[in-house]
Amino acid sequence: MKALSQVDWKSPNTYVFFGVQVIGVAWLLSLIWRGVAGSLSVENLLLSLFMVFFRYKIGMWFITVWRHRYFAHRSFRLRFEWMENVSAFISSADAQRGVCQWAAEHVWHHRYSDEPEDHHSCKQRGIPWCHWLWVVKEGSDRVVDWSLIPLLGRNMFLRWIENRQWIGIISGGGIFSLVGGLLSIGGYTSFIWNFIFSLCAYFFATTILWHGTFLINSAMHLIGTQRYSTGDESRNSLICAILTLGEGWHNNHHNAYPSLKCVREGRNTRVDRSQLYWQGETTFERCFDWSGISIWILIKLGIFKSL
Ligand SMILES: [Zn+2]
Ligand SMILES: [Zn+2]
Repeated sequence: MKALSQVDWKSPNTYVFFGVQVIGVAWLLSLIWRGVAGSLSVENLLLSLFMVFFRYKIGMWFITVWRHRYFAHRSFRLRFEWMENVSAFISSADAQRGVCQWAAEHVWHHRYSDEPEDHHSCKQRGIPWCHWLWVVKEGSDRVVDWSLIPLLGRNMFLRWIENRQWIGIISGGGIFSLVGGLLSIGGYTSFIWNFIFSLCAYFFATTILWHGTFLINSAMHLIGTQRYSTGDESRNSLICAILTLGEGWHNNHHNAYPSLKCVREGRNTRVDRSQLYWQGETTFERCFDWSGISIWILIKLGIFKSL
């Protein structure tokens, strides 16, 4: 398979990337097996699922609100500057590389959406690549292109934390596993086993968080409806919007942040520049744009500011 030959097999990150997913899936299978064998109590099952769900939703919120709508697009402003640093640190627990590299690669995606320059275009390179493999492509450890995100480059903390993502990743996994261990009933041995079990659950939650995010690059350029002729393959999808806290209104989003080709050809429709933090446009769509709703609420509370 040609795509596999372009994966960076020399980088340890590649093995961590696949290893976490293998352990995560093994955790899910062990949960099912224990359920079928009758050795898993309903309380433990519900607790496990709740913790995974909680980790997924919180992680997705930081990805959509902070990594995407704030760091990549600056679609709202902050009342307190320290929030930028704190959110960058917490976002590092998502294990999706530094917020600056993430933002720069996303800005690049908007600029050349579905053209040969796009890093993750299904149209150009097929589904396995655009959904999954591009993350560990050769050269994926390259330095951040700061010219794409000049405002972020001025923040020295963001530059410092950019290559120290492991601090947030280990902190997030450690807290999650510790909570899982402490919730166990029993002695020291029970704590150790539940700590390990929770760590594997964390790997599973990280796996679905990755694939939830990757859906935007793959499914949202393949399946759904196109309201705007944006010159690329971006689509709107209710199912993806529900899974990703509103990111599924992706064709609206590409219209609001048009590609160079789109601008050249005069395709982009007028959008309300003060409301760029939304991806849903109609009332119905906004009901399923939970990231947009949360930003709107935080603006009303005076914690965020509109443009
Ligand atoms: Zn975007
Ligand atoms: Zn896109």
